[in-house]
Amino acid sequence: MNSEHDVDVIVVGSGGGALTGAAVAARAGLRVAVLERTPLLGGTSAYSGGACWLPGTAVQQRAGLPDSTEGARTYLDAVLGEVEPDRRARLEAFLAHAPDLVAELETDPDLDFEWLPFPEYYDAPGRVPAGRSIQPTAITREDLRPEIAALVRPPVERDRAGQPGRRTLSGGQALIARLAMIVAREGGDLRVGHRVTGLVTQADRVVGVRFDGPDGPGELRARRGVLLAAGGFEGDAAARTARGVPGDVAWSMAPAAANTGDAITAAAALAAATDYTGQGWFCPGLAQPDGGGSFTLGFRSGIMVDQHGRRYGNESLPYDRFGRLMAAAPERVPSWFVFDAAEGGRLPGIAMPEGDPEAHLAAGTWVRADTIAGLAAATGLPAAELEEQVARYNGFCETGVDADFGRGSDEYDTFFTGGTGPNRALSPVLTPPFTAARFVLSDLGTKGGLVTDPEGRVLREDGTPIAGLYASSNTTASMFGAHYPGPGAPLGSAMVVASLAVRAMAVSAP
Ligand code: FAD
Repeated sequence: MNSEHDVDVIVVGSGGGALTGAAVAARAGLRVAVLERTPLLGGTSAYSGGACWLPGTAVQQRAGLPDSTEGARTYLDAVLGEVEPDRRARLEAFLAHAPDLVAELETDPDLDFEWLPFPEYYDAPGRVPAGRSIQPTAITREDLRPEIAALVRPPVERDRAGQPGRRTLSGGQALIARLAMIVAREGGDLRVGHRVTGLVTQADRVVGVRFDGPDGPGELRARRGVLLAAGGFEGDAAARTARGVPGDVAWSMAPAAANTGDAITAAAALAAATDYTGQGWFCPGLAQPDGGGSFTLGFRSGIMVDQHGRRYGNESLPYDRFGRLMAAAPERVPSWFVFDAAEGGRLPGIAMPEGDPEAHLAAGTWVRADTIAGLAAATGLPAAELEEQVARYNGFCETGVDADFGRGSDEYDTFFTGGTGPNRALSPVLTPPFTAARFVLSDLGTKGGLVTDPEGRVLREDGTPIAGLYASSNTTASMFGAHYPGPGAPLGSAMVVASLAVRAMAVSAP
């Protein structure tokens, strides 16, 4: 077994939280090692849009937005309602430190942010019109160190197809690439193919990790602390079932064989507390011929129906809210999304990836017919109900009012749509042939896990911290609980907690 004793901070995982922690630690002069299980950096974060819900920063000010820390607090209070005191403390730390973190990162020559127009997910006091999320600016491959360019996980549609990334890296790709550049530039050690399998302790303190690496098992020690930021357990079927997370490993958006909850298991072996373990960041998932699911948002037309052929919600809802509607009744998984030929037979929505319509039709994940009754026969849905639902929806498109679910009444509903009728979120299902696409319940990761204090220290059931052990990202119980307040909440919260954790490590006694 290899044994090394020469870093200050070990970061487990390489998503947005992990690499923010690593970058902040490396910039503070700490020796950092990042251990990533897969051969590529970035995990689900590299697939993401890179939206960061980081309120009250200079980026929103530059964009002239009516955003402030106080406004974000008002919004969170309205969305989350009453929260437990320990979670309140974590939210306050997040709100207080989001501006500092962005200010610090923007002093770095390798990272800048810009406003990303994308409405927040609830119509609540404190909401900023068109949203307050920010994103890292795009970067081209030529501007990256070649070793980093080769290590960034490609966007999901290319990664799943076994293709390399694009020349321009934007969104989550840019976030991972830029943070990894900082870590490498400051002398940090980015190790892919290193799966952390356990924690090393000494007199009740975590002093390192055990890993399986390219040269076999090894041990690495950290003088100041270990940050667990290794995703959730969305890739572990047994853990999902045991903890009651709806959905399925095959439908989850995380890269294959990445997030199986190793870090949570390792900390739980030291009696770490867990919470919100039944929770995920949910979304409707377009069923794929290979059994997978694709994150889908921004429906421009069409209706989602359950196995009785009935609509059950506003299809334009923010995706986590629609996913939760799907999870609420068994007859909603799978659902069918019914649309017409107005867009040439392609899905009138954004699916990542959509896949090839012909392949869908051949596999039966999509069925097509010249009439709604024909579609009902092909899907097994009751024809009279489906015809009635489509006719009713088409009537709503004419009046501009969805009398059943209020689709189009919120700014989010019309953000992605190009409709020309009285309600831009309501475009009718009129032009044959008609298509029904099978939908399952997908997720962007689980978000229940280790309980931490505001600085990311991992806590035991009795509330005492496990010395030397910190966690962020989907490895922890989300500070937002069962809510997804707005675009970038997963990354924004992960980044701030990771940065607070390494700052705490920087001032801890080695
Ligand atoms: P990941 O980013 O998945 O990183 C975890 C890493 O840890 C993985 O690389 C994994 O291989 C590694 N790992 C796991 N176990 C071990 C181990 N034992 N040892 C070493 N390494 C290990 N969120 C936003 O905030 N904004 C967005 O714009 C946004 N857009 C999205 C768009 C898409 C298409 C998808 C799929 C998701 C999106 N999300 C977005 C959600 C967000 O990407 C994830 O919830 C978040 O990135 C999870 O971060 P993480 O660090 O917890 O996990």
